[in-house]
Amino acid sequence: MNEQPRFQDKKLPRTFSGHHGLAHETGLIFEHGREDFTGVDIDPPQNFKPRLGGLERQSPLGLPGLSEPECLRHYVRLSKQNYAIDAGLYPLGSCTMKHNPRLNEKMARLPGFSDIHPLQPFSTVQGALQLMEALSHWLITLTGTEAVALSPKAGAHGEMCGMMAIKAAIAARGEAATRKVVLAPESAHGTNPATAAALGFSVRPIPAGADGLVHPEAVAAALGPDVAAIMLTNPNTCGLFERNIVEIARLVHEAGAYFYCDGANFNAIVGKVRPGDLGVDAMHINLHKTFSTPHGGGGPGAGPVVLSSRLAPFAPVPFLRRDGEKLVLVEEKEGSQSFGRMAAFHGQMGMFVRALTYILSHGGDGLAMASENAVLSANYLRVCLKDVMSSPFAEKLCMHEVLFDDHWMKDSGVTVLDFAKAMIDEGIHPMTVYFPLVVHGAMLIEPTESESAAFLEMFVATLRDLAFSVKGGDVERFTGAPYYAPRTRLDETGAARKPVLTYKKPIGEREPPAA
Ligand SMILES: *Cc1c(COP(=O)(O)O)cnc(C)c1O
Repeated sequence: MNEQPRFQDKKLPRTFSGHHGLAHETGLIFEHGREDFTGVDIDPPQNFKPRLGGLERQSPLGLPGLSEPECLRHYVRLSKQNYAIDAGLYPLGSCTMKHNPRLNEKMARLPGFSDIHPLQPFSTVQGALQLMEALSHWLITLTGTEAVALSPKAGAHGEMCGMMAIKAAIAARGEAATRKVVLAPESAHGTNPATAAALGFSVRPIPAGADGLVHPEAVAAALGPDVAAIMLTNPNTCGLFERNIVEIARLVHEAGAYFYCDGANFNAIVGKVRPGDLGVDAMHINLHKTFSTPHGGGGPGAGPVVLSSRLAPFAPVPFLRRDGEKLVLVEEKEGSQSFGRMAAFHGQMGMFVRALTYILSHGGDGLAMASENAVLSANYLRVCLKDVMSSPFAEKLCMHEVLFDDHWMKDSGVTVLDFAKAMIDEGIHPMTVYFPLVVHGAMLIEPTESESAAFLEMFVATLRDLAFSVKGGDVERFTGAPYYAPRTRLDETGAARKPVLTYKKPIGEREPPAA
């Protein structure tokens, strides 16, 4: 059970029920339910003879049985301990946790989109195919590229798709055996080297300069006839625009390699820069970041990949084809050297609807304004906090996220993790911490364009108050935090190293072992 909050004046009495106020504790569902209990009333089958040849289950499945209200309350109580973008700010750098407009949800629930099946005849889903065509057009136009594959189901899956197109292009040139290396800056998101490695490439890291940028000289030094591609994030994970990107693209192409751009940070530049103009050959777009579809529990991800004319022939199937008035999905196309299929069916339709709704409700100028405001918000935080927190790039304009390090808390007895936990007590979800790895004790803050100026001021005031506590030596405010959360400091290392993933009944309640 929870410790008493540290800042409470009086020690609060222990409660009989174990609940605190109307915020209910809820145990595991197995602890509520009973295995002999079911909400479904069906007579056991008569004269039933299993036809599984002795493979049928001998012991009970052991699922907890609960009535509908018990089950509902369990999950509602859990959900109230959870934090969500609909409850407050989520300043996770690199994640673009922007507001998910309700209009998106309304459109996605239209039966013509929500109740269709991917195997329905094309003549019955023309509206859905038109939506995919319109979204494709917007993504291609906003990125200045040639083609788009809508089917990948997350950013990382999009990386895989783009790199599979690159692998196919290299194989088509007869260089599969020689070009086995992918270049990735040290500041790259972990998915970049993981994608390259999963496809059988080895990864050659590129050091960043002291200014946080990748320099053409460093890329040139790493390029060679063994290099298949570079994977570069722009704006990069330090929140800076890679100013040398055109020169880097030129060097990469001159060496016979391809340019994969990690587009997770596209929110900073939509409507301002077209990655295709910078020399990018492939880039994924996280619809759940830039185009406001829900992250995680709110719905599945979608990571469409745009491709330059160099890679378009290798795009995965299916292709959307227009025959006069009619749209169809086909597996063959003149000149295609497709590497195959990325996913069953055609991608996350519900996310396509949400993303296109967001795009159309903003329009081209509105999308550019969203990017401008995202960048403005991040720079506002940078300027308001740089006198109390340190940053290697404090004086530089940042893009849509601002990066601080832990230099300013050196020898204070407070770590970045402690600081993040104390933010929870203040009702603020922590920023991304310890990423990117190139900066010691990184704190990466991405406010997005969703937050009002008034709220950003409150955020600044809270962080300044916390920073003054660090400097003033109030270590206790941090080391035991969070004091006010439903659970206090957890053993995160233990949870990661020794996770308990299956429920075991406490000793004494277990059935005797089967004979
Ligand atoms: C989020 C992110 C990814 C991975 O995207 P998912 O949709 O989470 O798979 C890759 N690179 C960067 C820089 C990111 O921020």
